[in-house]
Amino acid sequence: MILGKNSIAGAWSAEGNVVFKTFNPKLDQENPISFVEATPGEIQRAVTAAWEAFKIFRNMPGEKRAAFLRAIADEILALDQALLDAYTSESGLPQGRAIGERGRTVGQLRSFADLVSKEDWRGNTFDAAEPERKPLPKDDLRKTMIPLGPVVVFGASNFPLAYSTAGGDTASALAAGCPVIVKSHPMHAGTSELVASAIVRAAERTGMPKGVFSNINGGIQAGVDLVTHPKVKAVGFTGSLAGGRALYDHAAKREEPIPVFAEMGSINPVIVTPDALSKRSGEIAKTYAGSICLGTGQFCTNPGLLLTLKDANTGAFVQDLAQQTVALEPQVMLHPNIKRGYDSKESSVTSQSGVQLIGKSEGALKPNYAPAVIATVSGAEFLANPKLHQEVFGPFSLVVQAKDETELLAIIEGLEGQLTGTLIAEENDNLDLAGIIEALQNRVGRVIFNGVPTGVEVCAAMQHGGPYPASTDSRFTAVGVHSIKRWVRPVSYQSFPKALLPNHLKG
Ligand code: NAP
Repeated sequence: MILGKNSIAGAWSAEGNVVFKTFNPKLDQENPISFVEATPGEIQRAVTAAWEAFKIFRNMPGEKRAAFLRAIADEILALDQALLDAYTSESGLPQGRAIGERGRTVGQLRSFADLVSKEDWRGNTFDAAEPERKPLPKDDLRKTMIPLGPVVVFGASNFPLAYSTAGGDTASALAAGCPVIVKSHPMHAGTSELVASAIVRAAERTGMPKGVFSNINGGIQAGVDLVTHPKVKAVGFTGSLAGGRALYDHAAKREEPIPVFAEMGSINPVIVTPDALSKRSGEIAKTYAGSICLGTGQFCTNPGLLLTLKDANTGAFVQDLAQQTVALEPQVMLHPNIKRGYDSKESSVTSQSGVQLIGKSEGALKPNYAPAVIATVSGAEFLANPKLHQEVFGPFSLVVQAKDETELLAIIEGLEGQLTGTLIAEENDNLDLAGIIEALQNRVGRVIFNGVPTGVEVCAAMQHGGPYPASTDSRFTAVGVHSIKRWVRPVSYQSFPKALLPNHLKG
């Protein structure tokens, strides 16, 4: 049962008097449960408890943290239909997606459990002493990674499970030994509360300190209070550029600045060569129509920008892409606010000089359903107008037609940082693929050949993060086991007697 309360260090709490409700976008009505926002006192309690828990949690053997993560996965599965119902009613996403995302969430928790059940994830480094070295002896040095401290996680509106309460940020931070305080996303507070209850049960079952996890309901001020609290040591965020940047700035202005790992906007450029178009234009249009509309376009890897060279085949390709895209059945968006944002950004882009609207889903749509939109513009107009570079979060893509290869390269080099860049080409293409790949890899975190950017495999070789503004620190990934590196820092032990070293450095 969903209570509408905050979960603070293992206890339900609702001391505030500000309440809000989540929204069912499919039914176009509020869900019945009222959620109570946390008070500053409750936030203080959550952080204090996290700090106390940190002193115990950071020194627990990896197998114990692994048992906790595995228990969270089991407890999430045990929530069964109640979780799927909350998810679908708060997001408009279908049950199949909820089941898939739950599988991904549970898989992530278990993969971090596997990782930290052995200590080699810390990348321990040993430098033996050389007492006889001249002119100076060398001391014994051993380097390891230790957790940063309590982490605040802001869940993503578009991934109510896999990038929210027990999602990748939380799983990786807990794996590292950092207690977590989640500022639940107000659009799916019920889903978040259910997952929080699963985490609390798992913590009790596996003997974790109470403050290891808290779940806070609240708006912007709650988020700012958490990020600026002196005992919070790092932040994970997925969402808008405006939100991520605001929190990054708050963290930087603290007396002790802390890292904010924010995953924000991306338009995920796709370069389609003339050779590829001349051989398989129809197939590319069909595949990309599906990718643009997947999940109502509400993926951070959505292909919002297609770059081609203007030639005899381009016009027919753009028409075909538009027809195939608008032929797909329109889908509901996550929330009326997301739909408003989509409408406003789509019309802001399509009303710019030189932009031609090629296709838009026709007919009256149900409330909160999004029309798919394909527009096109010349390379010169795109280069000259920064407004055309903004993310339109939804089933939208802009096809840019460059006049030649030099202009195409200038466009790629002028792009803001991106999560992904895709090349649709022939292996023996007439374009200089090496030059394009070189330019592309300098703007993105993942380069894809003859595929689609949507669908992020959770595995160790995945890079999810790119140069700003795709993320605030392109050296790290938000997906896969290497994401644990965001929550740890290196420490060297010099000339230590074995008895005083951490167990994993004694070898
Ligand atoms: P959001 O507005 O950035 O909100 C994400 C979280 O951050 C929410 O908990 C929000 O709290 C909080 N927040 C936002 N601005 C804040 C600020 N200035 N100070 C403190 N906390 C702040 O993102 P969203 O609600 O998920 O979606 C809105 C837009 O974000 C979408 O239309 C889309 O453009 C973009 N988006 C991008 C991605 C991506 O992966 N690139 C994913 C999802 C969304 P409140 O809700 O209480 O404000």
